[in-house]
Amino acid sequence: MQPVPSLIPLSLPDLSALETRYVLEALESRRLAMGAFVTTFEEKMAVMCGVTHAVAVNSGTAALHLIVRALGLRAGDEVITTPYSFVASANCLLFEDVIPRFVDIDPGTYALDVRRIESAITPATRAILAVDVFGQPADWPALEALAERHGLMLIDDACEAPGASVRGRPIGAWGWAAAFGFYPNKPITTGEGGCITTDDPEIASLCRSMANQGRRTPAIMEHVRLGYNYRLDELSAAVGCAQLERSDDLFARRRQVAAWYDEALTGLAHRIRRPTEKPGSVRSWFVYVIELLPESPAGLRDRVMERLRAAGIGCAPYFPTIHLQPYYRERFGYREGDFPVAESVSARTLALPFYSTLEKNEVERVAEALAGAFSAAEKNGNE
Ligand SMILES: *Cc1c(COP(=O)(O)O)cnc(C)c1O
Repeated sequence: MQPVPSLIPLSLPDLSALETRYVLEALESRRLAMGAFVTTFEEKMAVMCGVTHAVAVNSGTAALHLIVRALGLRAGDEVITTPYSFVASANCLLFEDVIPRFVDIDPGTYALDVRRIESAITPATRAILAVDVFGQPADWPALEALAERHGLMLIDDACEAPGASVRGRPIGAWGWAAAFGFYPNKPITTGEGGCITTDDPEIASLCRSMANQGRRTPAIMEHVRLGYNYRLDELSAAVGCAQLERSDDLFARRRQVAAWYDEALTGLAHRIRRPTEKPGSVRSWFVYVIELLPESPAGLRDRVMERLRAAGIGCAPYFPTIHLQPYYRERFGYREGDFPVAESVSARTLALPFYSTLEKNEVERVAEALAGAFSAAEKNGNE
């Protein structure tokens, strides 16, 4: 009998005895909300990002929403952002009836193409919301210069980029404020969770108040503004504290797995582009996304994905473009062709299994399966 090969999932959190110990400590303390783990987690986030303020919340989406509100963005304001991202980076604007003005991406980094931004600025434009796609930092020095020149605010959706930096300055410290997310597939996880980082004390205190029902002071029933319950709980923060203590190791392991992939995929260089690290920046390894070359036959990516899945290998089409999501099409009338670079990249990108505990032989198995999937899918496609 053939041994059944184990499945290789798309992602897995890396949890050690330390996470377990801290969660048990939190449970035994009987303090499940607004306690020491949340405070410690915020201190550690501020240190990692080189900022003065970190506000923990219960998702990356909540972090983005609070930043939008704290910056005073309102109905009818326009914010320039990318169509090639996870949907939350544009949804956070719609929560406040702020209008996303999508600008096409740089095919090299998948980030907002800074050269295209100026022509999208209108009298209603108030801010730029850039995303560090797949952990590769956006072009922050250029974004900062452009935002200053036009008097625009600058927001970083850094959900995919903890540990990254540009010119030695950490992600989390660029822009007016940055949002992090800690869903289990992210490089740092808390289960569900998020965080806002900023050097601006006013933004920090507004976010802190709005995350806690608009209170003036944490435990007191005086509500001075519209707020939410976006608080991170102690159990999640306990996991996060352990993750941040282990972050150097977690990031190094992900980098090692990426290097194994680079090596294992050299034989497919005529078919795919492997992810890169932009000179002058340190990227975070959130996912390992390969891109089929532009001359690939239409539909090949999807056929390759089917074959990988059939071989028990997790994969995903990261990202479908935001503007072509049914809700955005219906609400704003977007159509194919509106953002051709993002659409072309989106039709050809594919995330492979990627997590810090992935082993070298598993990476090699994925690479073999991928080569096999290409051959089979091409044959199939030509019939
Ligand atoms: C994960 C992610 C988010 C949202 O984070 P949640 O914690 O799932 O709400 C936002 N933007 C980007 C780019 C993400 O990858």
